[in-house]
Amino acid sequence: MSIDEIDKEALKLILRASNSSHPNEFAGILRSKGNRITEVLILPGTFTSERSALMNLYMLPISSQSCGSVHSHSSSVPEPSRADLNFFDKFGEVHLIVASPYNESSWKAFNKAGKEVKLEIVESEDGDSTSSRYHEEFWT
Ligand SMILES: [Zn+2]
Repeated sequence: MSIDEIDKEALKLILRASNSSHPNEFAGILRSKGNRITEVLILPGTFTSERSALMNLYMLPISSQSCGSVHSHSSSVPEPSRADLNFFDKFGEVHLIVASPYNESSWKAFNKAGKEVKLEIVESEDGDSTSSRYHEEFWT
C-alpha cells in the first residue's frame, strides 16, 4: 500500500520540532499505519548542518515499521540536496523535507527517487481535548 496521508498531529509535531531547532536542522523517522503517516520519532540532540542531521539518521536502527524520514532545512527551500537523494534511496517509501518558516505550506514529501508526492493531511482519530487545544493554537 502506498502512503498518501499524514496525520495532522504528526505534521504539527514535525513543524514544531523544526521551528524550535532553527537555525539547526532536525531529523526524525516516520512511522505509518496502512497508507497514513501516524508517528514521528524525533532524534535527540541538536544538529548544526544538513550533513550531521543525515548522519544521525544513518545511525538509527531502522525498523520495519519505519516508512521513511523527515528533516528540516534552515533555508526556505524544501527540495532535496544530492546527499538527501542518496539517503532517500537507502530506505523507506516517503521522505519529508520541512523548510523555513516551518508552516503548513513550507514542507514537501518525496519518494525514494526524489520525486515529489502529495500527502493528504487528515485529522487524527483520537480527539482528546489537549490535542484539539494545541491544534487551535497552532493552526490559527
Ligand atoms: Zn536536506
